[in-house]
Amino acid sequence: MKKLLCFSMIFLMSCGVDDINKFAYKLRNQVQDDAKESLESKSATAKFNLKEQAAADLAGHNVKIALPYFETNATEMNASVKAALIKANNRLDTLASKKGDLTFDNTISELDDIYFELNNVWNRIYLIGSTSNNKQMREASQKLNQELSQWSVETSSRKDIYKVIKSYSDKSQVEAKADAQKLKVETMKSFEKQGFNLSDEKQLELKNLKIELEKLTSEIQKNISESGKKEIFFKIEELKGLSAGQLENLTKVDEKTYKANVGVTYQMYSVLKYASLEKTRKKAFIARNSRAKENASIIESVLKLRSKISSLLGYNSWADYVIEDKMAKTGAAALNFVDDLITKLDKKYIAELEVLRKYKVKQTNNTSAQIHAWDIRYFQKFEEQRLQINMEELKQYFPYEQTLTGMFDLFEELFELNIEIIDAPYKWDELLQLVKISDASSGAPLGYLYLDMHPRPEQDKYGHFAMFTLAQSKILKDGKSSRPVVSLVCNFPEGRNGKPALLTFDHVETLFHEFGHALHSIVSHTTYGSHSGTSVPRDFVEAPSQMLEYFLKDKNVLDRFAKSYITGEKFPADALKKIEALNLATVATFYRRQLAFGKMDLMMHQNAKSQDEGIVDFTNGVLKEVYLDFGEETGFINNFGHLFGGYDAGYYGYAWADSLAADLASKFEQSSLGFLDKEIGMKLREEIYQVGSSQDINKSIVNYLDRAPQSDAFMRKLGLDL
Ligand SMILES: [Zn+2]
Repeated sequence: MKKLLCFSMIFLMSCGVDDINKFAYKLRNQVQDDAKESLESKSATAKFNLKEQAAADLAGHNVKIALPYFETNATEMNASVKAALIKANNRLDTLASKKGDLTFDNTISELDDIYFELNNVWNRIYLIGSTSNNKQMREASQKLNQELSQWSVETSSRKDIYKVIKSYSDKSQVEAKADAQKLKVETMKSFEKQGFNLSDEKQLELKNLKIELEKLTSEIQKNISESGKKEIFFKIEELKGLSAGQLENLTKVDEKTYKANVGVTYQMYSVLKYASLEKTRKKAFIARNSRAKENASIIESVLKLRSKISSLLGYNSWADYVIEDKMAKTGAAALNFVDDLITKLDKKYIAELEVLRKYKVKQTNNTSAQIHAWDIRYFQKFEEQRLQINMEELKQYFPYEQTLTGMFDLFEELFELNIEIIDAPYKWDELLQLVKISDASSGAPLGYLYLDMHPRPEQDKYGHFAMFTLAQSKILKDGKSSRPVVSLVCNFPEGRNGKPALLTFDHVETLFHEFGHALHSIVSHTTYGSHSGTSVPRDFVEAPSQMLEYFLKDKNVLDRFAKSYITGEKFPADALKKIEALNLATVATFYRRQLAFGKMDLMMHQNAKSQDEGIVDFTNGVLKEVYLDFGEETGFINNFGHLFGGYDAGYYGYAWADSLAADLASKFEQSSLGFLDKEIGMKLREEIYQVGSSQDINKSIVNYLDRAPQSDAFMRKLGLDL
């Protein structure tokens, strides 16, 4: 049972621009409201929205809530972006020409507002690129996304804007409201990180370094994507161990041959998990981890550029530069967390590998058989057999619709919400659903959630599981709370031939996880768009959603909705225990792999690599030390896209957030009502979800826990003695 590492869209949005664009207004925390202009002039959607808005206003909730207008062709998309850029530029020009009488509202808050409006359009254009069934629209999205990125890079180097904001900041006192003060500090910090306090000469040098960096990271991503298309062929006899169904995951060439693309995860994992011949697994593993070899020298250049940039800006390393705004604060603290966890897991990890090795000894009759990186998924499967868990059989308890409704019912009660599926006035796909979420006690509307939940590979739909933000929460100038709109874009199976779609237990965890991101956004109530919901530090953002997965450990929770669609029986208690046991049996291996990635990322970005050591040898060395030897001929780093798409010096954040999630969940675990404790539920909603990043995240955690965070719960999850 391996977790899908969810790529929150708030980060993916920044792909390719994040390095350059750490502008004051965090474009990566994409926000998107309805575009009011389009609403008032367009079709049935507009009428629907305006009616909704009027109804909400009439009900006296002081709320603005509306669905975005979705462009239906590339021409409309171009027009929307053009209009949004003209408007943003006009407002920025006005801001930049302000003299005298500078206030918080007409400087820092104005900037928040300008980006809030622009992001309303950008987010939607980006979502269209990942979900549209229309190829021209997907292509238009890609082009417009590049244009918007370019615009943000240029805008972020506008000195005239910086001067006005700095002038206000220098003269003003501490803001009366804590969130306004926080925003002011963050805004100035972002400007500093853009190099605005450097001399003209150094600023120019910085700009050139960033342009070069952007070029190289794009090249790396392009190489990864291209090399993933490389085909690998298997003779049928090499694929012993794969069932007919598993073979279907590969492409049949002829009666005796199958092929796969080395970059397609599910194809390669089918081979790695089921192929009983070691040489087949090795062949697949090596091919997959030898992608994009041409990236090695480019990565070395990227590291040099990042090091130079951070040094110009006064940081000891790129890791320090990036992590300064995160919970960990410094590269050293993040690395310390990673190293500490690696050590703590040591004993358990060795024991887990020994269990797998014994399976291999038994299978090969070779008493000195060793476990290699390509053996892990295959022999971990034997643990499922030992524990007599049949994950396939357990799918009968989780028909998709039943699970979704069950989850909604649960969180309606726990967080005092009304969650209803309503008619979507516009659907970009016929299976799309729209959910309206309101506060149960006041009736105030909180936000909308689109559900695009099933795969459409033939239309190039986004292939993972993520939440895309369309609009974040913000108090508008007229005092109304503008409510968020988000979309889950997932790839859960679809029902076929009259049979319901059935989810695996992993899928159900993913569903809860993604809904956690959506809740974090939708119940958010912040004054500024840049503080909304998921705009929290990257090493925290997974915690609020990760912790919703813990609900599935509670039998009382499962009993509310997990019933066999065949017999009507409840989810078997012993299956839950076995799933727990399976998780525990493989948890150290899972985390040592994660931590190896986290460690190589941090070390690379802390200038730890010696001058004469190549990046491939260096990172292969870290893998070997912390996890397993990938083999000399491989170069995992060359296709580790995270580090060149916005997660640089950030991979440790997954484990960091996991640790906090375990702690957040422990509050429920300690209650006599377990995960059905509504008081704790409301506390979670109010202290964590609602406040977003309007205050220091540590403060929110303490407010929720009524104590400082501890690692005890995470240690228990890892099966480590306290
Ligand atoms: Zn996630």
